[in-house]
Amino acid sequence: MISKNIFEVEQRIQQACQRSNRDRKEVTLIVVSKTKPVELIREAIAAHMTDFGENKVQELCAKMEQIQEPVRWHMIGHLQRNKVKSIVGQVACIHSVDSVPLAKQISQEAKKKQVQCDILVEINIAKEATKFGILPEETENFLRKIAIFPNIRVRGFMTVAPFTESAEENRIYFRQMKQLAVDISAKNIDNMTIDMLSMGMTGDYEVAIEEGATHIRVGTGIFGERNYH
Ligand SMILES: *Cc1c(COP(=O)(O)O)cnc(C)c1O
Repeated sequence: MISKNIFEVEQRIQQACQRSNRDRKEVTLIVVSKTKPVELIREAIAAHMTDFGENKVQELCAKMEQIQEPVRWHMIGHLQRNKVKSIVGQVACIHSVDSVPLAKQISQEAKKKQVQCDILVEINIAKEATKFGILPEETENFLRKIAIFPNIRVRGFMTVAPFTESAEENRIYFRQMKQLAVDISAKNIDNMTIDMLSMGMTGDYEVAIEEGATHIRVGTGIFGERNYH
């Protein structure tokens, strides 16, 4: 069941890459395993999945402990400063940096562990009142403030696009994200190489790829609906 879903998602990723003249290697599929048991994560690993995303620190840490295979873990959910310590040095990338104190805390923890921590700045591209993230027009200013922290490496941007019926409605936002990345790169701010764009979920990842996503985050499309209780 999971391997069949993965196969289908993979086909659609390849088709989206072809439509937009992109190399399949430019796009990393992050399997979003939140709420799903480790048995299902193991099935996904058996189907050659290498990157997993979680949105809660406690759940992420529990799963990292149980999964011995050398997969990459991505923190994609809102992160509190007091929880930074338990994931720095363990995760491949923190996608959800949305405040200067959080960036500072990550750098301090990374320094203690003598590592560099890859981060993405979360952008509230559609300026939704309910969403976390930096507003696009505040991004440059924000980046200049966090550029001074020595043990983080800003790799790019992440966004959670609006929930819509039709993926096409989000094309404009994905395009704006790509443009933001291009504009910011041209400013050559210290300490950052903008080469990651984390955008697109089950409902809209194909459009996100067409507009330049390097990392897509797919949960439901692989594991089916989540049961929250
Ligand atoms: C849950 C989640 C996803 C995956 O959503 P699906 O619609 O199930 O693919 C992606 N990104 C973030 C930040 C999430 O919290």
